[in-house]
Amino acid sequence: MDTPVPTVTTKVSTATRSVRRAPNAPPSRHRADICVVGSGAAGISAALEAARLGRDVLLVDGQPVLGGQAVNSIVGTFCGLFSNGSEPYQLTYGMVGDMLRDLGETGAAYFRRSPHNNIVIYDEVALGRWMENAVREAGITVLLGAVLREVVVENRRVTLLKLATRYGDVEVEAQGFVDATGDAALAWQAGFECQEPADGPVYGTQMVVLENIDEAHLPSREAIPARMREVGEKYGLLRREGLAFVIPGRGIAAMNMTHVETPLEPFAASAKALEGRDQADRAVRFAQTEFPEAFGKSRIRSYGFPGIRQTRWIKGRQQLTSQDVVAGTRFPDAIARTAWPIELHNSGDEHVWQPFGPDHMHYIPFGSLTPAEGDNVVAAGRCIDADNAALSSVRVMGPCMAMGQAAVHALDLAGSGSVHQIDPAALRERVRDNLERRDRPYG
Ligand SMILES: Cc1cc2nc3c(=O)[nH]c(=O)nc-3n(C[C@H](O)[C@H](O)[C@H](O)COP(=O)(O)OP(=O)(O)OC[C@H]3O[C@@H](n4cnc5c(N)ncnc54)[C@H](O)[C@@H]3O)c2cc1C
Repeated sequence: MDTPVPTVTTKVSTATRSVRRAPNAPPSRHRADICVVGSGAAGISAALEAARLGRDVLLVDGQPVLGGQAVNSIVGTFCGLFSNGSEPYQLTYGMVGDMLRDLGETGAAYFRRSPHNNIVIYDEVALGRWMENAVREAGITVLLGAVLREVVVENRRVTLLKLATRYGDVEVEAQGFVDATGDAALAWQAGFECQEPADGPVYGTQMVVLENIDEAHLPSREAIPARMREVGEKYGLLRREGLAFVIPGRGIAAMNMTHVETPLEPFAASAKALEGRDQADRAVRFAQTEFPEAFGKSRIRSYGFPGIRQTRWIKGRQQLTSQDVVAGTRFPDAIARTAWPIELHNSGDEHVWQPFGPDHMHYIPFGSLTPAEGDNVVAAGRCIDADNAALSSVRVMGPCMAMGQAAVHALDLAGSGSVHQIDPAALRERVRDNLERRDRPYG
């Protein structure tokens, strides 16, 4: 008997059409009032603030997902968001209030006091979804997976961005631009002068989330680095110190235990990304073997994107110096504040940690956000102009979010004019909460 020939039901479409890319097809074009490039802590905060001002906003990121390092590198802790000491107060506002309230209410963030620094630990998955929802609700246009290829500058103004996406090329026009790329990619492509660390690399870190840890048997905060220094060589560990940020009650921890270079040369960056994962595996093997009661049954649930601290930053109208940070200089054009320590990662095996007292506060001047050679570009986040040590104390997420807000207020005040000519008092008034307000922490 012949086998019946299978037939396709009429409900299934079998039709195809032949397509071919049109030669010289023009790129897609988009126009916005403000274009924010980079959707990390600084860029998201900038985009939400610009939307709150009623501006038409385009938010661009090279990754296919929003959130930058805050979400995708599993940073897991908001630092620099509260003052030091036993009576902490919140330092940055804008989107931060809604974010902390929403995450706090669902148990996805909690405030942690410590004798020196007061931080908020958060669940990066919940933060990512919070950001996505906030951006959608604010009506912000999003362009993901779009990497800057060219920046057109005419008479000190950026007039056009040319971006490549996997779905084709895109061109963007806007009145003002925020460079929240972390690596000053917009300023760099515009041909503006930039800066890099002169004394060797600032190391990044490959973060991992470890699950199935036994919280009841966790070693002390000091025990892990002490043991790493004793036996690290046996495991091939480059970094001989590290931290496990435990999310209480959930048996998971974010492990910050590696040091990896983060070069900007494409092949070297790719090779280092793989090296970072290998280092993370070694650090976890160390934890499992040396602290078996706590980590013996643990396993890696996820690897973050490479964690990149400091690579390249703008040459601004003013440089924030480590002397300013230590002295707490209050600049006439201050736009943000923080009390986070100087935290330098420029040696492979350890880092420098210089904390400040309970009453310390340092400030970020608007001049350090403004590329000297451009009139309608403002940097925000970890690519502003600061010396190596000063940058290490202001690139944490609290001040990054404050910088994003200041950047769009400056562009809003400048309109079709120059951000170098806005009235500092008017800008200060716009960001007053981030300089003066002192709310107590929630929870
Ligand atoms: C391992 C590690 C641990 C840290 N721990 C803490 C901590 O506990 N608490 C804390 O507050 N801070 C911490 N920091 C610092 C902090 O996380 C970062 O400095 C901060 O998140 C930087 O935010 P950002 O918005 O400036 O940049 P990023 O988060 O780096 O965002 C930049 C965005 O720009 C996009 N981009 C870059 N180039 C291009 C391009 N050419 N075209 C298009 N898009 C582009 C990127 O895809 C990215 O999404 C840590 C950093 C690291 C690396």
